[in-house]
Amino acid sequence: MNYIVYVEGVENSFYTYSSKGNLYKIGDCVWVTFRRRKKIGIILSYDELANHEFKVSEILGRVEEEVSYSEEIIKLFLWIQKYYLCNFGDVVKISRPKNIKSSYSKRIIFNRSVIPMNIEEKEFIDYISKKQSVTKTTMLKHFGKELLEKFINSQVVLEKNEIKENKYIKNMNNGIEYKYNRKESHLTREQEVVKNMILDGEKRYYLLKGITGSGKTEVYIELVKDALENNGGAIFLVPEISLTPQMIDRFRREFHEIAILHSRMTAKERALEWGAIYSGEKKVVLGVRSAIFAPVKNLKYIIIDEEHEGTYKQDSNPRYNAKYVAIKRAELEGCKIVLGSATPSIESYYYAKTGVFKLLELTKRYGNATEPTMRLVNMKDEKSDFFSESLIEEITVKLRREEQIMLLLNRKGYSTFVQCHSCGHTEMCPHCSISLSYYKKDGIYKCNYCEYTKKFSNKCSSCGEKTLDFSGKGTERVESELNELFNIPILRVDSETTKTRDSHKKIYDDFLNKRYSIMVGTQMISKGFHFPEVTLVGIINSDSILNFPDFRAGEKTFQLVSQAAGRAGRAKKEGEVIVQTFQPDNYVIQKIIANDYVGFYEEEIDNRKILSYPPFSRIINIIISSKKEEGLEEYSTEFYNEIKSDKVEIYGPMTPPIEKISGNYRNQIFIKGSRNEINRIKIKIAEIVLKYKSKDRKNIYRIIVDVDPINLM
Ligand code: ADP
Ligand code: ZN
Repeated sequence: MNYIVYVEGVENSFYTYSSKGNLYKIGDCVWVTFRRRKKIGIILSYDELANHEFKVSEILGRVEEEVSYSEEIIKLFLWIQKYYLCNFGDVVKISRPKNIKSSYSKRIIFNRSVIPMNIEEKEFIDYISKKQSVTKTTMLKHFGKELLEKFINSQVVLEKNEIKENKYIKNMNNGIEYKYNRKESHLTREQEVVKNMILDGEKRYYLLKGITGSGKTEVYIELVKDALENNGGAIFLVPEISLTPQMIDRFRREFHEIAILHSRMTAKERALEWGAIYSGEKKVVLGVRSAIFAPVKNLKYIIIDEEHEGTYKQDSNPRYNAKYVAIKRAELEGCKIVLGSATPSIESYYYAKTGVFKLLELTKRYGNATEPTMRLVNMKDEKSDFFSESLIEEITVKLRREEQIMLLLNRKGYSTFVQCHSCGHTEMCPHCSISLSYYKKDGIYKCNYCEYTKKFSNKCSSCGEKTLDFSGKGTERVESELNELFNIPILRVDSETTKTRDSHKKIYDDFLNKRYSIMVGTQMISKGFHFPEVTLVGIINSDSILNFPDFRAGEKTFQLVSQAAGRAGRAKKEGEVIVQTFQPDNYVIQKIIANDYVGFYEEEIDNRKILSYPPFSRIINIIISSKKEEGLEEYSTEFYNEIKSDKVEIYGPMTPPIEKISGNYRNQIFIKGSRNEINRIKIKIAEIVLKYKSKDRKNIYRIIVDVDPINLM
């Protein structure tokens, strides 16, 4: 039998290997010889071609300590490699914890006796013949490398790997039976209808559009129960920031057999969870992006919560989007997939409108909760850039009633732009072409791209004058301005205050128990949180991302503000939202205030159509970068000329919005075209990238190909 094999570390091609008889299956890890070296390979498929012109070498054996992949997962890897133009090895690497291999010890086994030539040899033979089998380490310690190798080569002793039990994967032959005494669910009528549409539906793909607080999570839980009752499993994906302790508790209470996978866990914790899924002990996974690769058996449902979130797309290699990988996996495993959001991505809603996904809706908040009222404030008419008079008034009212307030601001730090008004100098990052942010409490400047830091001195680093202006307000600044107005402790939530492992839980508990009345935070606070006492949400700078050079800027603004607004009035008390803006006439802001997703979608989809942006086209972003500025443009132009095609629009090479990041100068090529043409040009790009990788300047220039990019900076 011949097999197509991926050889670890060899990315340009797959290779054919054989075995006598049909010894292996797809997904097995095997030892192969590649260019005279022993390497690990993964079996990708059977090679139907019986006669090869070249000599096919034989597989040396199974890698005993490795865990096999399922056939579906292998097919998924192959799809990702082809679709995202990434290395197969990069996909394999992120798909499971590194340390999931079984541990083994190398042992020396006695094989046959020979006549010893000297005392040393006699000791060796006596020792091993008496013991029969000893670890290699012990043998090396007693007799040294030379002697041991001599006897191995003459086959007096044999080397053998002894596999120990896998620390992480239990043998499930006796099977754990869980008792299901779950509390009975009481879905609302609307929720019940949606649930049944999915359970009984013929379709594979569903988009659940449910307003904030409508109980989408209740529906998801019912689906997971259905999977378990039918002896199957489920994967439930959430964006990193909404995997809060609250969410985890909620699912743990409901399901004993749940595995949690996220990036804050230690390698060991992750391996334990992964092993429990692999063995079948745990059947449900709640996790972030890479949990889409979890080896859940008999997969019945994949659920993607907050499906509009950009964080499902990985911003480093392999640049996959877990949402689209999930859709592909659902197809390969024959299971259903539910994408859920209060503000679906324009693309998903379009697919729902055109019948690719089945559209399901939840239109009412659970219980008697009503949707919050929305109020727009034109900041052009206000004295302060921070808080409008209406916002201050409302905060005062809510504080007097002992209710709670959440304020959203899309930036951390004290100031993102520090300039000297004597000489005009701006504090810039020496490695990136952006200004440094000032963090007052820590007394430092920091680059939000490369984490470069330097001490803050209150003096201009160019002219030495103490005339610094602080603009570009961040959460820390808002916190301190608020303190001057209200003089009460404020809970600040951003990536700076949530660095420690338990900070999320503490923040959640503190606010729920009303130890604080006001929470100020970045987009971290806009999702998932359910605080019944929050009656006011203030959006400090609703247009901060509206003017980004990104065709999704409007969509991202709509989603962020609507999600944050959804934190207000989720229980008995009515909620109110104040949206501060400098662009009150912008249609995005108008539709946010009108709480009109469909109206927003209709405007947005028309724009996309006119400019032929996704979903009416596909895009690829190529970044060519180098530590050397000189020659970069010529190199990029050369590359551009090779991929040029009149079937797609190709822009560039041009300087991207952020020219330099972490000392790398960057050049950008942007490609837009129909799905078919993009698929065609991908093949060409892959070939040319490969060619450039073996060229003489490969160490000077780096080429990043981002298919379906989310981040265009
Ligand atoms: P969403 O995810 O749509 O924003 P949630 O699922 O968080 O909404 O539901 C909002 C709140 O309403 C939660 O506290 C949830 O427990 C409650 N809730 C929703 N549906 C039900 C139900 N059928 N029975 C009991 N509580 C419910
Ligand atoms: Zn930097």
